[in-house]
Amino acid sequence: MNKAVIIGAGFGGLALGLRLQAAGIATTIVEGRDQPGGRAGAWRRDGFTFDTGPVLIADPDCLAQLWRLSGHSMADDVTLLPVDPHYRFHWPDGTTFDHTADETRLRAEIARLSPADLTGYQRFLDYSASVRREGYETLAPVACQELGSLIRALPTLAQYQAWRSIHGMVARFVKDERLRQALSFAPLLAGANPAAASAFHAGLHAVEREGGLWFPKGGTNALVAAMVTQFERLGGTLHLGDPVAGIETVGDRATGVTTRAGRRFEGDAVASNADIMHSYADLLAGHTRGPRRAQALTRKRWGPSAFLLHFGIEGTWPGIPHSMVLLGPRYQAWLTDIFEHGVLPAENCIILHHPSVTDPDLAPPGHSTFQAIVPVPHLGKLPVDWRAVGPILAGRILDEIEHRLIPDIRGRIKVQATTAPPDFARDLHAHHGSAWGLEPLLSQSGWLRPHNRDDVIGNLYFVGADTHPGGGVPGVVASARATAALMLADRA
Ligand SMILES: Cc1cc2nc3c(=O)[nH]c(=O)nc-3n(C[C@H](O)[C@H](O)[C@H](O)COP(=O)(O)OP(=O)(O)OC[C@H]3O[C@@H](n4cnc5c(N)ncnc54)[C@H](O)[C@@H]3O)c2cc1C
Repeated sequence: MNKAVIIGAGFGGLALGLRLQAAGIATTIVEGRDQPGGRAGAWRRDGFTFDTGPVLIADPDCLAQLWRLSGHSMADDVTLLPVDPHYRFHWPDGTTFDHTADETRLRAEIARLSPADLTGYQRFLDYSASVRREGYETLAPVACQELGSLIRALPTLAQYQAWRSIHGMVARFVKDERLRQALSFAPLLAGANPAAASAFHAGLHAVEREGGLWFPKGGTNALVAAMVTQFERLGGTLHLGDPVAGIETVGDRATGVTTRAGRRFEGDAVASNADIMHSYADLLAGHTRGPRRAQALTRKRWGPSAFLLHFGIEGTWPGIPHSMVLLGPRYQAWLTDIFEHGVLPAENCIILHHPSVTDPDLAPPGHSTFQAIVPVPHLGKLPVDWRAVGPILAGRILDEIEHRLIPDIRGRIKVQATTAPPDFARDLHAHHGSAWGLEPLLSQSGWLRPHNRDDVIGNLYFVGADTHPGGGVPGVVASARATAALMLADRA
């Protein structure tokens, strides 16, 4: 294989491009939007910079590896700033809990809420470290193409009781419900329901504790820009603003892609970073494999969507940390409403990011940027008119922030914008407008998740959140490692 084409320049597509290009394969990434990054896009107005998606980067070494492959250093292209605390949880009665990588402070925080849980926390930490080793480091970066991969993983899954939910597993170690919520929350940022997603997600706790959480100076999209710089430095080509309309095939081989503007890009291999349903149903519609596989995918479960409110305000708020989780009065019932019932409750859980507290250059002097994320049911479960619902939800978010954190917030807003489920569907071709893609359930993981290489078209590959191992920046970067290993092995 000498030439490869990748559809989509999300973190997954870019990480794969970097690996292929570093291995000497001339790689073209074809991105439909006029900026790279996918979920990790950005927009700027009146001196404010806003990321559209991730603002917490775990395991930065998985990204640094992408530069080391060709003897370069990520630090030359982007600076990562530490985020501390990782998150501050805030309950309606005013109780807070700071989740931090600092052992002494974290133990003090646990003791403040529930001293009796200190011993249980230590046991959870041991469990989390083991699961990190077995799951995150061993299983995640390797493609699961054969049923045998599932069979081989079974003893490990059984040993660590992976069938339990992460919330259920945390509950075996700690008694305080607030601590249970805080210690099992992180997977929600990758579209997982803590009450249903496998206890294997507990590995994230050890990943974040040992590697910290980071925010790129200039915003997450500055990290995306750095990946593009490195990709182009290695000779890769990024073609922006021209969506792929179809994957071309001859028999059971992919030969390249055609774009909406009529451009053709040929390759010995094609990899799609786009939504998995869009890839099969739309881009592979010209091959019998496409509609068949798309039909099978309709039986899968998709993660929730999200409503985002970005706002730039007058004033600085050093007391509000980079990330807060404003929990509502109901937690388990709220999760069930979003993930199962397709109901938008009146009281929500708000993930409130405040990136300008970490990087003040994101706002004009004396101003701040915020991003509020509310997970909501995807369009398949809640097909409402978001032009009507969005302003109501935006108002509720501001009410809650006004009540808990910034009393005169409305008068301070200088810039405001929202993203709703139809935006994910239209802008990213996300099935059901899901913000995170295929739900990361145990029954949709490993061999049971869409494979990193198609089972029929042998030179068609997939990378990103919908493939193994799943979403979140470290997840999709691991998927690029798995997919690149397959592609390079297939070349031999
Ligand atoms: C609001 C939000 C907050 C998040 N916060 C965090 C966080 O703090 N930390 C974290 O680790 N993760 C976070 N995540 C998850 C993380 O952002 C995603 O898992 C990850 O960015 C997905 O990357 P990807 O490469 O799989 O897909 P995407 O980013 O979706 O990239 C896919 C790309 O394919 C392109 N594409 C689609 N169709 C076509 C086509 N036909 N032709 C050409 N191009 C096409 C799209 O335009 C897009 O650029 C968050 C997600 C959201 C939505």
